[in-house]
Amino acid sequence: MNNLDKIVSLAKRRGFVFQNSQIYGGVAGIFDYGPLGVEMQNNIKRLWWQEMVHNRPNVVGINGAIITHPRVWEASGHINHFTDPLVDCKNCKKRFRPDDLTKKGRCPECGGEVGKPRKFNILVETGLGVIEGEKETYYLRGEACQNIYLNYDNVLKSTRQKIPFGIAQIGKAFRNEITPKHFLYRQREFEQWDLQFFVKPEEAEKWYQYWQKERLEWYKKLVNSQKRIRLRQHRDNELAHYAKMAHDIEFETSFAGWQEWEGIHWRGDWDLSRHGQFSKHDFIYQDPNTKEKFLPWIVETSGGVDRTFLYLLEDAYTEEKIKNQTRVVLKLKPQIAPIKVAIFPLVANKKELVTLATKIFNQLNKDLVVDWDDNGNIGKRYRRQDEIGTPWCLTIDYDTLKNQTVTVRDRDTMKQERIAIDQLLTYFTSQLKDDN
Ligand code: ATP
Repeated sequence: MNNLDKIVSLAKRRGFVFQNSQIYGGVAGIFDYGPLGVEMQNNIKRLWWQEMVHNRPNVVGINGAIITHPRVWEASGHINHFTDPLVDCKNCKKRFRPDDLTKKGRCPECGGEVGKPRKFNILVETGLGVIEGEKETYYLRGEACQNIYLNYDNVLKSTRQKIPFGIAQIGKAFRNEITPKHFLYRQREFEQWDLQFFVKPEEAEKWYQYWQKERLEWYKKLVNSQKRIRLRQHRDNELAHYAKMAHDIEFETSFAGWQEWEGIHWRGDWDLSRHGQFSKHDFIYQDPNTKEKFLPWIVETSGGVDRTFLYLLEDAYTEEKIKNQTRVVLKLKPQIAPIKVAIFPLVANKKELVTLATKIFNQLNKDLVVDWDDNGNIGKRYRRQDEIGTPWCLTIDYDTLKNQTVTVRDRDTMKQERIAIDQLLTYFTSQLKDDN
């Protein structure tokens, strides 16, 4: 069942994701994250950073700029090779990628005849300079990883890293996609997370295998349905211009079957040799122990933050029939959920209940993202939190005033238990730890 329309609607209605510039009619393939979306996106990025940088002594992070010297894109091959095939409809004049055609040679919108495919460069240009008409062409980065090659030597000299080591980064990338589609799946402005791991050429194979395994295991931990994840090797005709070999981690979407989530690429010496050639910078590395000299090879893992966001919503979106009603639940891992605990005073106009609930709210919000809801009956409040994936709801009732315990209700099992107020933080943080 295709859940995409339901997810798009929920994302807008509850403040996860909005169409960018909506009041002006929007821009295709560009989105803004709302109050819940930004929390969830930050959680996803924090987990990646923890896994890739903080947990690994041989990886460090950077945060590079979006605009770089224009020669970067000549050296990287993007000016010549960063193209997608494009076909024009002779009738309605709309443009498509050939893989968007539902019937060979025919426009998917009006059924008209389409022309022969031609190459279209998807780098996004911009201009810098203070004199109108004399602005120089620059590019918004088409892939975030270029900053890592540009800073490879700076990092090597400013840290105590030795090969093999990696540089990681999370950052925006821009592509003039011909057909942005499927919500966050193919956008024109999006965020990538990259690791570039620099190795001795003879060890490239070993590290290529290593990163495939590590990354696959990490993605599996994020989802409920592990059978929707697989690793697939690229055919030769699919390889990007820089790749000697590539595997994709794929997710089985409800809207378009198996689709890429992250690419693991064996980039060989392409990047450092090209930047060496174009900038005349010497990238040869000397092993401090053996004194052996070589040009490092690169194994890359490159995935998308927004695609992760979408796939996690796909994995989490659940409809359950309860009596005659449908319960919509986002079964997000608690670490990913935008709000961890919702606090409900049983009734909004009972001063003692509200005072105690406020005290609990102020205690928990030092360590957790908490929400407050005193509107409507408890059942309705549960449904509102289920729909945004809040793992725990906590009700302060008349018994709380007597025995200092509250009802904690679990999102997935819907079971309720009484927990002492002074045990709440330990109760939640220990479960969040187990989830990591
Ligand atoms: P695809 O062919 O699926 O569009 P790609 O092979 O061009 O992707 P890469 O250049 O390897 O993608 O980029 C690495 C990751 O960045 C992808 O695995 C994906 O998660 C993300 N990504 C790439 N293009 C987009 C886009 N237009 N919108 C959102 N995410 C993207």
